[in-house]
Amino acid sequence: SNPEQDFVLKTIESRDVHFVRFWFSDVLGHMKSFAVSPSELEGAFAEGMGFDGSCIEGFSQMQEADVLAFPDASTFQVLPWRPQSNAVARMFCSIRTPDGEPFEGDPREVLKRWVLRAKQAGYIYNVGPELEYYYFKDAEGTEVLDHGGYFDLTSLDYASDLRRDTVLTLEKMGIPVEYSHHENGPSQHEIDLRYTDALSMADAVMTYKLVVKEIAMKHGVYASFMPKPMAGEPGSGMHVHMSLQTLDGDNAFFDGTDSLGYGLSDTAKSFAAGLLRYAPEFCLVTNPTVNSYKRLVSGGEAPIYLSWGRSNRTTLVRVPGYRPGNEGACRLELRSPDPSANPYLAFAVMLAAGLRGIEEGMALPDPTEATDLFKLSRQELKERGFAPLPDNLGEAVERFAASEFMRDVLGDHIFSYLVQAKRDEWNDYQSVVSQWERDRYLGVL
Ligand code: GLN
Ligand code: MG
Ligand code: MG
Ligand code: MG
Repeated sequence: SNPEQDFVLKTIESRDVHFVRFWFSDVLGHMKSFAVSPSELEGAFAEGMGFDGSCIEGFSQMQEADVLAFPDASTFQVLPWRPQSNAVARMFCSIRTPDGEPFEGDPREVLKRWVLRAKQAGYIYNVGPELEYYYFKDAEGTEVLDHGGYFDLTSLDYASDLRRDTVLTLEKMGIPVEYSHHENGPSQHEIDLRYTDALSMADAVMTYKLVVKEIAMKHGVYASFMPKPMAGEPGSGMHVHMSLQTLDGDNAFFDGTDSLGYGLSDTAKSFAAGLLRYAPEFCLVTNPTVNSYKRLVSGGEAPIYLSWGRSNRTTLVRVPGYRPGNEGACRLELRSPDPSANPYLAFAVMLAAGLRGIEEGMALPDPTEATDLFKLSRQELKERGFAPLPDNLGEAVERFAASEFMRDVLGDHIFSYLVQAKRDEWNDYQSVVSQWERDRYLGVL
């Protein structure tokens, strides 16, 4: 028998667990779940639990509706915010077809496939995301809780208690937190998870979003990961720090002899070149909503041009952290993603783009250090070769739809679903006449 599964079965008894929640993600990154009674678990480990996939966004068509959820015993955790007698636990699941094949619509399977590809190339892909979000007094989102700014510790920082409770809850679930602080916007906060391998991290991101919302609710407030909830205030990003580790545990991104003095290996440079090359094609995955593109605008702290640098925060890829003697910290930071992305798919496309960069030995252009890219005119940007990310969801869908690479990375099923669903979303948005337009034009035209 399997020791991880035995551990789960034992813990269920010792911790008085009465409900085991099976967690998985739909294609858009929404958490889906159903509860299984502990007596069913042994069977579920062996044969999976069937359900009707046709009701899940991006899963099956009517004619092939049945799928099976196989719980991953290594992800077992008791939910700390639920009662501790007759407790509730969770496991993430892999979804399979009735003939036992990995189900094409399962985003976790896509990431697993790319993690395996990386391993075959000799690497472990580590990621550390920084997720930002806002607290509001209620779900209408009209009133924020505080008017603090970056790193502020206000005496009435009610949110410190919220953050504390959130961090402690995450740690009880085996998710270590590295930093937490007030962000630039009023009532905007950030909690940074300690880096780990991409699959564990994608699970952790799904858990994190839920925990932030659960704890907010417990305190009678509302938390939102909407990328740009208020005009004129900073958006919420999900910067992703990443590196490749060799199977011997070395940092494959580090090379002390780098002529730039950034400590970057050729592997890291080609990986970064792959990110820059494919960022416009994978933007639909890292920035999947209409609202995502209201964050990616000039003048803010979010990037829009394909560029990289060490300390330039207007660039898309940044190289933070390296100091001589600290080679483990040598890494790349991709600054475009936002928390509305499905973390499984987002990490998969970043990894695939980087690996492609390495395979093809892609060359990295010169870094952009002293230039504030937002101060350059369209003409100057063009002359200097800084192409932009897509301007809006409509453009992002068409860049994605034209990408054979994305079809290959995500598989036909998820690729086709995203093209369809996101085109519909854009068309739906385009058909709305907004209050801004009525205010601007009705009186004068
Ligand atoms: N909120 C900014 C963004 O949207 C990031 C600000 C920061 O972390 N310095 O990406
Ligand atoms: Mg940060
Ligand atoms: Mg931040
Ligand atoms: Mg950052």
